[in-house]
Amino acid sequence: MTKEEFAGARGGRTARRVIVVGAGIAGLAAALRLRQAGWRPLVVERAPARRKGGYAVVFSGVGAAAAGRMGVLPALQARHVGGFDLAYLRADGRPRFTVPRPTVGRLLGDGGLALLRGDIEAVLYEAVRDQAEIRFGATVTGVRQDAGGVDVTFGDGSSERADLLVGADGLHSSVRDLVFGPEEHFRRDLNHVVAAFTLDRLPDGMPERAFSTITAVGRTFTVADLGPGRHAAFFTYGTADPGAELAKGPRRALRQAYPGFGWTVPDLLADLREEDVYFDSVSQIVMDRWSRGRVVLLGDAAWCLSLFAGYGSSLAVGGADLLGAELERRPDDVPAALRAWQTGLRQEVTERQRKGRANTGVHAPRNRLELLLRDLPLRLATFPPVTGLLSRHLSFHDT
Ligand SMILES: Cc1cc2nc3c(=O)[nH]c(=O)nc-3n(C[C@H](O)[C@H](O)[C@H](O)COP(=O)(O)OP(=O)(O)OC[C@H]3O[C@@H](n4cnc5c(N)ncnc54)[C@H](O)[C@@H]3O)c2cc1C
Repeated sequence: MTKEEFAGARGGRTARRVIVVGAGIAGLAAALRLRQAGWRPLVVERAPARRKGGYAVVFSGVGAAAAGRMGVLPALQARHVGGFDLAYLRADGRPRFTVPRPTVGRLLGDGGLALLRGDIEAVLYEAVRDQAEIRFGATVTGVRQDAGGVDVTFGDGSSERADLLVGADGLHSSVRDLVFGPEEHFRRDLNHVVAAFTLDRLPDGMPERAFSTITAVGRTFTVADLGPGRHAAFFTYGTADPGAELAKGPRRALRQAYPGFGWTVPDLLADLREEDVYFDSVSQIVMDRWSRGRVVLLGDAAWCLSLFAGYGSSLAVGGADLLGAELERRPDDVPAALRAWQTGLRQEVTERQRKGRANTGVHAPRNRLELLLRDLPLRLATFPPVTGLLSRHLSFHDT
């Protein structure tokens, strides 16, 4: 989109400028929704090009509803794997038990989709790319605001003034550092490490159309088959010192953390391309406020729920949609719209973060008893009362 097109007038006045930092799910959703609300978005993304793949996510609830309103739900549904099993295996690959597709469908609920993170980003990117200016390989180094606007300085030394700055730059947000303070003030480590990456092919012997999981005390390993050419591996394990694990790098850390896992794990780790691995501590971001003046944080930058909540991408899109709605309601008072937006989201974020902390044992049970207690409802998941309970526990549904 050209500068001239951006300068188009709406309702008799020049469209307001929003700078969005980060072209992940939250940033692209914000750019799309604010464009639909009549804003002129500029998106700056640190990566040199759009990221692909990532890991498998369940997308549901407020995210699916918001995607419907934003017009991107059909494209997301087209990438949904359809029915899949939850297969629980022994460390040597032999089956333990399986939650069959129809039950998994009921667990996910009507709107629930199983996707790669990159699917959601790709759909949002396609919807917004001609509606917004998107700069890759760019970052933010300074933010200053006054009553009338916010001045943003970029890594190349240039700067722009905008009416609103959205920090959608993830768990390790630079906008948060610049405007709200250092990450350590807000990060709560859940004492786990996660490694996730896409696979070129489904490992031999892995069940097709399934999320196949091996869990041992303190660690879990899952391969998700989301259809042809769409496979992702995911490891998470407990540790008292996530920083020390991250310092090892994913290959060494995983080899040490998964010694008894035979079958496909050693091959996967031998072939690991470290640069393609998402490798980080499992953390939450807890803040009293997500906006200051004309600067607002969105998605993991604001409230990272952690992967244990299984809801971060959904809430990123839902939060972007609500942000657009509040700005439409209060077009002449950005700080007030941001405060109202925060009030509207606070309860859901608090509840999802609580569930995220409570779900830690589902992924990496701390002892044999926790493992048994994790497995019991899964083994009984086909019984309707248990299906409902489990669905709420896994956070897939709103109620
Ligand atoms: C293994 C795993 C499984 C998950 N499973 C689920 C699930 O089942 N369901 C679900 O809803 N959620 C799930 N989540 C959470 C979900 O993926 C995240 O909450 C969501 O992707 C967050 O999106 P985001 O845009 O806020 O942040 P990010 O995805 O971190 O995107 C931030 C973007 O900002 C860019 N950036 C960073 N710093 C800068 C900078 N200084 N300048 C410019 N750009 C910058 C980054 O390159 C990136 O593109 C899972 C997460 C993980 C790790």
